[in-house]
Amino acid sequence: MSQDAPRPGGSRTGGPRLGGPRLGGRRGRAHGTVAWAVAGAGPLTWRRRRAVGAAVPRRVAMLSVHTSPLHQPGTGDAGGMNVYIVELAKRLADLGIEVEIFTRATTGGLPPTVELTPGAEGVLVRHIDAGPYEGLAKEDLPTQLCAFTHGVMQAEASQRPGYYDIVHSHYWLSGHVGWLAAQRWGVPLVHTMHTMAKVKNAALAKGDTPEPAARVIGETQIVEAADRLIANTEEEADQLVHHYAAAREKVAVVHPGVNLDRFHPADGRVAARARLGLPPDAFVPLFAGRIQPLKAPDVLLRAVAIVLNEDPSLRERLVVPVVGGPSGSGLAKPERLHKLAAQLGVADVVRFQPPVEQDRLADWYRAATVLVMPSYSESFGLVALEAEACGTPVIAAAVGGLPIAVKDGVSGLLVPGHEPADYARALRHFIDGPRLADRLGTAAVDHAQAFGWEAVAAATAEVYARALHDHRRLAAHA
Ligand code: UDP
Repeated sequence: MSQDAPRPGGSRTGGPRLGGPRLGGRRGRAHGTVAWAVAGAGPLTWRRRRAVGAAVPRRVAMLSVHTSPLHQPGTGDAGGMNVYIVELAKRLADLGIEVEIFTRATTGGLPPTVELTPGAEGVLVRHIDAGPYEGLAKEDLPTQLCAFTHGVMQAEASQRPGYYDIVHSHYWLSGHVGWLAAQRWGVPLVHTMHTMAKVKNAALAKGDTPEPAARVIGETQIVEAADRLIANTEEEADQLVHHYAAAREKVAVVHPGVNLDRFHPADGRVAARARLGLPPDAFVPLFAGRIQPLKAPDVLLRAVAIVLNEDPSLRERLVVPVVGGPSGSGLAKPERLHKLAAQLGVADVVRFQPPVEQDRLADWYRAATVLVMPSYSESFGLVALEAEACGTPVIAAAVGGLPIAVKDGVSGLLVPGHEPADYARALRHFIDGPRLADRLGTAAVDHAQAFGWEAVAAATAEVYARALHDHRRLAAHA
């Protein structure tokens, strides 16, 4: 598909794979807020739009400074944003939009460029040298933004002019690189925050470290500089407007998605339990994700302690898996949750598991009676959608995107606040009514179908097209 001159050292031989956005059935139907973008946005339509000179991007420079799409999510700096970028990039490639993802090299010997999925064209990962490979905390990365930007500019300079049509930056650190790159290349900047310092600081767990003022300043600058902002939810759009003075018309709401090919009930709970070595009749409340105060796994352990106190006989058939690794402010004391489990007298029922690949994680979801997410803040909460798609209901704090990911009373239960007693009460509903998990789990599968990544990519491509259109119109009138 490429009209470009061959690229020296480029690893691709042809254009992106042409697949279709499969919007019906299990692959995900359009969710309400993105429906406007999905109608008629198949790959041929995009190509036709391009052929008649409409503003449709051919190639996106996607920026992910602080974490690589090739890293294992569920620990450290790798989480939902990594999954988001991987899934979005693949589905944009399916639409005929090439994606190149720039990320900081964090180990020696990495190739400068690598296909995201070997053998599948359309998404390239570019490793940029900026600072030492190891020992540089996320908090220190602002010192390396200049070096990173230099690497991005160099990569672009070896291509023909106009190589990238659009810059899409993820998280505020990338936003700063994107700000300069987009301006130098004369293309629009689309930015997705993923999380915002002001929002996180307003809902900190007790004793958690607040985000620094420098981040707030950086985020405010990006909101001003970006041509378009993509928010996960209406609530996030409002936060951009009220906390960061974003112009509302710049903000598009696109709910994230779930990979419905990977996350589905498969052969069910009992078979998944057999694969994981869990008893078929156990009560299994699962925590999955990065272990940090913000996600409040401690609230689940405290709730479990309450439930066990009320009914000691439950101990024989209770398993509480905690799947994931330390992250963020949780890195300072990675042993804290283990110690808490011991203090609460529940260490014998808690099963700590290091982060696992998503195919394996799907089995943990299937095996669980219920996923528990007592998070203080959550820009969306992909694990909720993933568990639901696997047929497992969710008990979640009513924060951030969780009230969208979880339909209260239908696909799970929403809990206001973070009182362990409230989570214990929610757990009791599942313990006392064993059919509840099956009933809500069935509805959860249905609820999750509305969130396929194909719809996310189609809506995002529409945001790109609008940004390009406005940018070109403004340039024509300048
Ligand atoms: N995850 C994973 N392996 C693990 C734990 C989590 O691959 O052991 C993935 C999970 O599938 C999800 C992501 O990490 O897609 C976490 O995203 P979420 O939005 O729930 O949280 P975030 O990390 O963005 O705070």
